[in-house]
Amino acid sequence: MKIEALEVFVIGDGPQIDPDKGGIEPLACVRVHTDAGLTGLAEVFRVPPGVVQATVGGRETHFGRQLIGQEVTHPERLWQVMWDAFIHTNRRGWEIIILGALDVAIWDLYGQSLGQPVWQLLGGVQRGPFQTHADTPQTYVTPYCTLVSDTWGGDAMIAQQAARAEQLAALGYRAFKVEPMMSTPRDVVEMARTVRKLLGPKLTLMVDVGYLFNDVPTAVRVCRELEDLDIFFFETPFPVDAPGPYAQLAAKTSIPLAMGEHGVTRWEFLDMMERGGVSVVQPYMTTCGGLTEAKRIVELAQARGALVCPGNWSTQILGSASVHLAAWSPITPFIEFAPAEVFESPLRQGLQDAGFPVRDGRIALPTKPGIGYVLPEEILRDFRME
Ligand SMILES: [Mg+2]
Repeated sequence: MKIEALEVFVIGDGPQIDPDKGGIEPLACVRVHTDAGLTGLAEVFRVPPGVVQATVGGRETHFGRQLIGQEVTHPERLWQVMWDAFIHTNRRGWEIIILGALDVAIWDLYGQSLGQPVWQLLGGVQRGPFQTHADTPQTYVTPYCTLVSDTWGGDAMIAQQAARAEQLAALGYRAFKVEPMMSTPRDVVEMARTVRKLLGPKLTLMVDVGYLFNDVPTAVRVCRELEDLDIFFFETPFPVDAPGPYAQLAAKTSIPLAMGEHGVTRWEFLDMMERGGVSVVQPYMTTCGGLTEAKRIVELAQARGALVCPGNWSTQILGSASVHLAAWSPITPFIEFAPAEVFESPLRQGLQDAGFPVRDGRIALPTKPGIGYVLPEEILRDFRME
């Protein structure tokens, strides 16, 4: 089976959307076509569609030159072909995110060609019973809900995110991440206290402050106040350009520190774990460099006492790849999930409805060959932008 063509299309909620309310900005997706008639799919989150269109296409494009005519064998081989082609040009950034999306589409094809779901080809279920709570079935993946609000900071933000947590908990979701961004230290603590109180002690709570702090002492003070609220992780207290502040905070709090939404390649994650003391890493399955690279990140994290909770604030096209990684990974208790129930986005809802269903707060392991996400024709008809 050979790769015959690379296709790019763009979907979105339209020109008037507000991404803060969850609307999908123009989102490039890639399809890899083969001479056997099989097609692999992935999305390219947070890369301007024009960049994807300029580099993915016929043999005259950068990725077309590397991939068209290639035999679909183990995805790691094609990953290396693409990576080696960047040795003198670009080792990070948008092009690696595109490489990652193509890698996910190739895993999708590889699974289809072998008649197996991708998680089986990654190594099957690796979660052992010894480190798993007796109540946690190993045949499920657990999403955590990321909560956002229309306004940031103050009581309106706290009230809106708390109401959304309550609505989603009533639907059976089991884990929640509040996002007190652009807020005062008081707002951060109040947000977490309010939601912990309404969730009770059994459901899981995470806090993401979105690069809020620059000084370490303020972050230490906030973490001290959060410590008795059973916070699963504290995400991106500082910009991720320097590991030093993370290491200083990690030494002074018992709350695990998390980062990784924009992390590109295993090398960035390795640095943040080794020098930054980060103990929860959050690769996006495309952004980090694909499922091939995400698997390596899991292996590096396992040897360093860290967890991997794949990030995904985008759609369930990307989320479906996270489910396969989590199904295999021995150290992935949660994947991020931006539930369409609390966002204003018909496209997000449509893509979620087509994805793996969440029942009783859990996603059953996929059984279809490949990634197993089928993009509905109506979505292309109604939301295609280019
Ligand atoms: Mg975040």
